[in-house]
Amino acid sequence: MSARGNLFIVSAPSGAGKSSLISALLKDKPSDMQVSVSHTTRQPRPGEVNGQHYHFVSVEEFKALIAEESFFEWAEVFGNYYGTSRTVIEQTLANGIDVFLDIDWQGAEQVKKLMPEAIGVFILPPSRAELERRLTGRGQDSQDVIDGRMAEAVSEMSHYKDADYIIVNDDFDVALGDLCAIIRSQRSTCASQIHTHSGMINDLLAD
Ligand code: 5GP
Repeated sequence: MSARGNLFIVSAPSGAGKSSLISALLKDKPSDMQVSVSHTTRQPRPGEVNGQHYHFVSVEEFKALIAEESFFEWAEVFGNYYGTSRTVIEQTLANGIDVFLDIDWQGAEQVKKLMPEAIGVFILPPSRAELERRLTGRGQDSQDVIDGRMAEAVSEMSHYKDADYIIVNDDFDVALGDLCAIIRSQRSTCASQIHTHSGMINDLLAD
């Protein structure tokens, strides 16, 4: 695959603020970046819109998509299936648009194998207590679900070393600034700039 857009893998334990950071990043609908909308078999939470937050599908539909090799990566997380559409990623990157994958460590591992140039960003909460407070404050899941997710969070966080960058989301605005800095720095690499400014560079070097 010849990718011109950058692929960012954003991983974090549930409650670290990953979705809020990505939403803030895309708030003004920039034309040069997009978040990938995953397929999932989990039930929609209140306020979640099919096709916007996720493509909500049945287990049968998900398995059929696996069989058709429709997924770039997929994984089972918290007892539900989640997957990233292959065609959407390939087409978006080919159009020069940066893509953000909000996926777990299992998905991140698969993507890094398929596309080593993908940039891994891991978001950590400032403390365990703060993570639990945020999970409870969300108010959309039962205590059982929250306890389960706290246990999963520790296992998810143990994969922080696989990322290229780590953001500690203590102050939201600082964390958002860090994410923007990572994106800007990635777009400024020689490889990215050659794609973006090939015409200008040719002109500059013309005899
Ligand atoms: P939630 O159900 O809270 O929206 O997401 C649960 C976890 O699944 C989060 O860590 C989220 O990043 C991860 N996830 C969401 N979409 C995908 C996906 O397409 N692939 C993988 N591997 N994980 C995903």
